[in-house]
Amino acid sequence: MATSQKVDFFIVGAGFSGLVAAERLTQAGFSCVVIDKREHIGGNAYDCYDEAGVLIHPYGPHYFRTNSARIVDYLSQFTEWHPVSYQVKSFTQDRYWSFPINLNTFEEWLGRESNELEWQDYLDAQKVPIEHPQNSEEVIISQVGWDLYRTFFEPYTLKQWKRHPRELQASVCGRIPIRLNRDDRYLTDTFQAMPAKGYTALFENIVAHSPNLQLRLGVDYAEEKQHWDYRHLIFTGPIDAYYDHCYGSLPYRSLRFEHETYSGEELAARLPISEKAGYWQPAMQVNYPDLEVPFTRTVEIKHATGQQIDVTTIVREFPEDWGPGKEPFYPVPTDATSELYSRYKRLAEQETNVSFIGRLGTYRYYNMDQVTGMALNEAEKLTQRYQSTPELSP
Ligand code: FAD
Ligand code: UDP
Repeated sequence: MATSQKVDFFIVGAGFSGLVAAERLTQAGFSCVVIDKREHIGGNAYDCYDEAGVLIHPYGPHYFRTNSARIVDYLSQFTEWHPVSYQVKSFTQDRYWSFPINLNTFEEWLGRESNELEWQDYLDAQKVPIEHPQNSEEVIISQVGWDLYRTFFEPYTLKQWKRHPRELQASVCGRIPIRLNRDDRYLTDTFQAMPAKGYTALFENIVAHSPNLQLRLGVDYAEEKQHWDYRHLIFTGPIDAYYDHCYGSLPYRSLRFEHETYSGEELAARLPISEKAGYWQPAMQVNYPDLEVPFTRTVEIKHATGQQIDVTTIVREFPEDWGPGKEPFYPVPTDATSELYSRYKRLAEQETNVSFIGRLGTYRYYNMDQVTGMALNEAEKLTQRYQSTPELSP
């Protein structure tokens, strides 16, 4: 049998969580190996150029945003930024709507001009008084009432999650703002920008800044772990998989992506629908709430990356059940899944040399900035713990 290699930290997953932790720990003087079953770094935030030369996000659109100066400062060591105001529209009833819901949406709804006072009166009359919304239906109807909810949220959510919004925690739909003014930015965070050369370039710079880091791609934890003798494991894959689903499987939602590339001539013919020459659709992302449409959204990431190129690629997202061979993209936030997750968490808390971080490791619908923060905190904690204990591996 081959002898195993000694390393301080064995890290499963080369996404934001795994690579940020590895960078911090190697900078603190530890040795790390990061493995991923995929053939590339970056996890779900990985981006690449397609055959037409368009920079695409193969695992769904990733819009970086944060309110944390600490996270911006940290990541800015590895990338410059391309500032973006993320624009999304909704398409239903044969037309585009301003989205998230704001005064412009209300005017489109009325078919005439209006103002904030009238919009506020409308909302006051429509919204269902619920002091502490308990689920994703309540969080929306308590702000805009049934009509707008049934148009923009209920069918989209059913399609995306295959669950009624009533079954999903308030945080799912609650992350979409509802605005009284005309602000139609999808997100409100103070910092909104894409890595100027893309996410993969950012990850490559993180790796380059990690001395004493070994990367093993295209390998699974179950098989690879036997080749390593480590002091501590950082696991960023699904926590239930780590425990062989001993309490049953946590549910995930998966996605299928269909890509379509359009030539410059096709795009010219698309005007004025696209509103802007060189683009296929009027915004980076168009949401399709209607149940008759099998996909939830079409993304033309070129709007957000700012790439200057004649052609364009749009990606349609089809929600799918998760199962063998499918990626576990979304943890499903319901009360029942929280309870099941807490059972796994209790097992995790008994571990002395295993940390679970990231979207899958903690079974939370976290964004990139949040998992970056989590990885920074965990690396700090582990640095203190292992620096104060002797006999580090050579
Ligand atoms: P991941 O990126 O999932 O990385 C975990 C890695 O572990 C994976 O590469 C996986 O292959 C590997 N792995 C798992 N099990 C094993 C194993 N047994 N052996 C080896 N390797 C294993 N966030 C935002 O901030 N803005 C957005 O706009 C945004 N859009 C999103 C859109 C979609 C469709 C999805 C699914 C997510 C989106 N996110 C967004 C969330 C973002 O993807 C996550 O916050 C982030 O990628 C989590 O990083 P991570 O390292 O925790 O997990
Ligand atoms: N949502 C909706 N209609 C929309 C957009 C979002 O009902 O047009 C709901 C849906 O349940 C979705 C959630 O709000 O899963 C969060 O939306 P977001 O766009 O943040 O989804 P993500 O990018 O995480 O897939």
